[in-house]
Amino acid sequence: MKIAEIRIPFDKMYDEQRQSETVSEFVRGLSEHGCLVGDSVPIARTEGDFRIYTITPEADALSAENFGQQLQSLLSAFKEAGLGPLDTVVIGDDPGTIQCCSCGIRSFIILYTSFLDDEPPLRCGNCFKPVPLYRIPDSDPDLRAEISDWADDYRSCDRFWICSGVGEKFGYDQISKYDSPLSREGMKLSERLTSVFRPSYYYLYRYKTHSEKAEMARKCPICGGDWYLERRLHNKFDFKCDKCRLLSNIAFDLKPVARSENGYDD
Ligand SMILES: [Zn+2]
Ligand SMILES: [Zn+2]
Repeated sequence: MKIAEIRIPFDKMYDEQRQSETVSEFVRGLSEHGCLVGDSVPIARTEGDFRIYTITPEADALSAENFGQQLQSLLSAFKEAGLGPLDTVVIGDDPGTIQCCSCGIRSFIILYTSFLDDEPPLRCGNCFKPVPLYRIPDSDPDLRAEISDWADDYRSCDRFWICSGVGEKFGYDQISKYDSPLSREGMKLSERLTSVFRPSYYYLYRYKTHSEKAEMARKCPICGGDWYLERRLHNKFDFKCDKCRLLSNIAFDLKPVARSENGYDD
């Protein structure tokens, strides 16, 4: 991911409040479209321009070709408000994050995030690197914002579970049960991603189990079919059901199981 600065010059002869609102709406649009990541996007007004400091998934995230129809129409309001064209400077890499996927072909994608993740909540099935949400075609225009909302909820539930406080059981149930409201929402989004983008898988977290034997023998919770993977995928997933497009791991409370690991290569 990259740290970037956006500058938007303004004409002082125009209404100041309208300019601020137009810029704020555009920045909100950039976030919903997946061009910016992170909750907080500071906007500074200087003598001659607005300056926005942000994290972007890729160096070209703020290029017009990644904007889609919604952002283009927000941009078209600039001239009338007395705002000039965007000037974007990529300052450098964000050292705490991973770079985005650059695969030419993605066989499948995975809806995936965690309380630690700032990256877009979509991963490439081939390399497991993040895929920016602006890569999703415009044909389902609300999908990106709904994925961002789901990811916020997921991170909150994951944090409840990890912090082991008042919401521990609630958080664990949400991220580990296939029929929890969080999983149901995630699987619906995954279906929509499959129809407009690439075959999309949903990940079910798993920590607790009764025994190693029972764990290795467990079946897909939706269809009851076999889903154990002979080779662990991306050093993370031990179960994969292609019928239900569901992934999971061997319960983390077992001692680490020695497994041959592989990326997706077939
Ligand atoms: Zn990739
Ligand atoms: Zn299944």
